[in-house]
Amino acid sequence: MIIDIDENLCKGCEICSDFCPKGVLAASNVINSRGYHLPKAVKREKCTGCKLCELLCPELAILITKKT
Ligand code: SF4
Ligand code: SF4
Repeated sequence: MIIDIDENLCKGCEICSDFCPKGVLAASNVINSRGYHLPKAVKREKCTGCKLCELLCPELAILITKKT
């Protein structure tokens, strides 16, 4: 899976990491230009492509696509 996080849109709410059923995402120490902590894919290989994170992100900052 390709997990694309638009760091300019992210507000660091951690909804994506809290709700990912596979624990793929976690808050990181990386801060974007607005001072928010960005999530990071720490278990990328576990991603099932369920798109829950994409659907729940209030900023529409995540895009999940299958590798072709
Ligand atoms: S698509 Fe599903 S499994 Fe993959 S990171 Fe998002 S919530 Fe987790
Ligand atoms: S749900 Fe969206 S805005 Fe919130 S931390 Fe994740 S990517 Fe950022």
